[in-house]
Amino acid sequence: MSKLIATAAIRAANKLVAQAEEMVEKAIAEKGKDFVFEFPDTAFYLPMIYAMTGFPVKTLGDMKVALGFAKELQHAEPDEKIWKPYLGEALDSGMATLFAEEIILAVRYIYGLEPCKDPETGYVYNGFITDTIQRNLGIQLVDGTMPGFAAILGAAPSDDIAVSIVRELQEKKILTFLSGQSNGDSVTKQLLRKGVELGWDSWIVPLGPDTEHTLYALDWAIRASLIFGGIKPANFKDHLKYQKDRVFAFAIALGPLDDVKWATGAGAINMGFPAVADTDVPVIHPTGVCTYEEVDTEFDHTKIVQKAIEVRGLKIIVERPDIPVAFGPAFEGERIRKEDMFIEFGGQRTPAFEWVRMREMEDIEDNKVIIVGDKWQERFAAGGKMPIGILIEAAGRKMQKDFESVIERKIHSNINEAQGVWHMGQRDQNWVRISVGAKICGFTLEHIGIIQNTLTHNRFRSIVDKVQTTIFTDEASVNKMLEEARAAYKERDKRLGSLTDESVETFYSCLLCQSFAPAHVCVISPERLGLCGAYNWLDGKAAYEIDPTGGNQPITKGELVDPRYGRYTGVDEYLKKASGGAVETLNLYTIMENPMTSCGCFECILAIIPEANGVMIVNRGFTGMTPIGMKFSTLAGTVGGGAQTPGFMGIGINFVTSKKFLFGDGGLKRLVWMPKGLKERIADEFKKRAEEAGVPNLLDMVADESICEDSEKLLEHLTSVGHPALEMPSII
Ligand code: SF4
Ligand code: ZN
Repeated sequence: MSKLIATAAIRAANKLVAQAEEMVEKAIAEKGKDFVFEFPDTAFYLPMIYAMTGFPVKTLGDMKVALGFAKELQHAEPDEKIWKPYLGEALDSGMATLFAEEIILAVRYIYGLEPCKDPETGYVYNGFITDTIQRNLGIQLVDGTMPGFAAILGAAPSDDIAVSIVRELQEKKILTFLSGQSNGDSVTKQLLRKGVELGWDSWIVPLGPDTEHTLYALDWAIRASLIFGGIKPANFKDHLKYQKDRVFAFAIALGPLDDVKWATGAGAINMGFPAVADTDVPVIHPTGVCTYEEVDTEFDHTKIVQKAIEVRGLKIIVERPDIPVAFGPAFEGERIRKEDMFIEFGGQRTPAFEWVRMREMEDIEDNKVIIVGDKWQERFAAGGKMPIGILIEAAGRKMQKDFESVIERKIHSNINEAQGVWHMGQRDQNWVRISVGAKICGFTLEHIGIIQNTLTHNRFRSIVDKVQTTIFTDEASVNKMLEEARAAYKERDKRLGSLTDESVETFYSCLLCQSFAPAHVCVISPERLGLCGAYNWLDGKAAYEIDPTGGNQPITKGELVDPRYGRYTGVDEYLKKASGGAVETLNLYTIMENPMTSCGCFECILAIIPEANGVMIVNRGFTGMTPIGMKFSTLAGTVGGGAQTPGFMGIGINFVTSKKFLFGDGGLKRLVWMPKGLKERIADEFKKRAEEAGVPNLLDMVADESICEDSEKLLEHLTSVGHPALEMPSII
């Protein structure tokens, strides 16, 4: 590392540590050293300090102790350092900087100064990133949807350059955090001026106006190894290695650099995150080595994203359909408000459907798009609504009828990924909107067909050899096809209902999360989906056909040695290998003995409540208290990392209404508490299962947050309604 940078980093670290100290002292004087603080919705205290040192900062007094660690990093001789070896003076200063920044931001939170609000525009920055958001993104991190993360600091030379850099990152599927400023301007402000949609839905997340706010992104990164990696706090070497090997982050610094930027950069290098700048300065590599590049006086900003991606060693595959608007998962969450909409289809306003059916190779023409009916752009000069039927026909040597629903479920993302096009619902409940902006770009209905053909080929290569899409818009043909489609949905549901764990010979594994949780394996059977909720048995089967060496492998289930708990010889044999020996044996239908492991991206957590002789469920996104005295985030912190934890288990939401749910423990009747929102979401299916269990009003007996948030009141409630769990054999 160059002397110049090292000196700047050390200088800034000194300054920031002193500033943090002053802020903490002042806060202690005003509020007392026992004043309790936690960042919103996290189980990991001040995550950077916690991961590196194992010290949980819970109070202002603790912050003072933690600042001691930072000072130690700066000033002690290498052999005097308690918790950290000598990484080099600048790197240690970098880490001290991150500690100081974390404490500065915490104190700012205490005083209500975070998340920051921009005084000119009123824009409120994201601030600290919650555990919930981190877990929500779990799947996208492992399945390649989101291959990397960028932190952009400063401001681009012009608003247009800022937009083009960010658009390129979006199209390359990179989640982008914004922070800092240069010359009083910032990329956040530049994008706001250009009307670019900001936030999690568009994968552009402004964290705050200062360089220090970059720490929120690093705090987010470091929790990946705590949450998914199962690496223990204080094991800083493993944390840093995990970051370098598995978290593909990098920084782009725009505009002049100052000491704090250098020092924060030095902190990020510890984690293996390189930085690329547009000024006449070096690229900082993760090894801590700087390389001076020949920089043209006219810096070419069109190359900076590609450059950063290369420096971080990312491989990004972008397969985009040939359409006149931007395309990629970063546009999936974009909303189209009524006033921005040109035309809409379906949504209970007009007849509509979407349907995938299997055909013979000779019946269809590959990549053809057929429009039956009017072309909307001619008929609707001022916008409006019209019927739509989307029929996708697929043929292939390895195509199976079972894959129709798997392909059909992707229609939603396929359409949504186009900028200015929005989709909701499925089957005969679908709803599509096209924005004025997309229309101006030249987007037509044919492009919906092109998207489906291209994406179906991309996503289902080797299953699908030919795809043809027909879009119906005249009411008579939509209604006629709708009849056929409904008959097909019905038949499909019947087939799905008959798929049971007993009726198949093969289960599927999902190993996708091993890139983050190396010992975790999801075992997916017809009656139990993956804990993230994104993969069911048919998905596993299709994925294996698409890529026989990929993340979903067949498991010959073998002999059923324990029908009550659901233990299969084949599953055990497979797991021993696939978990690297971490899991010896697994019971599919119980929470009590050798239950399924959890990675971290579970939709819900199940936990036993011994005094109620039952279990509770809490879903990700529910931030209230639960009767076992822990919120989702705290609970989640205890079950992740690929370990079996009897009494606790991560599950997918749909598993709750499976006939195999807690089958060995007495089934659905064990359920005593779950959040109201979750109740509503699964009510229909739940009632069916409850009826089969002979307790038709079970859902009403299950408590929720409106009834109680502690176990004492829970017991009172269960007793008063006569909940069946109280009469069941002891769960322990
Ligand atoms: Fe991860 Fe399991 Fe979901 Fe696969 S099914 S992505 S392993 S949580
Ligand atoms: Zn996972």
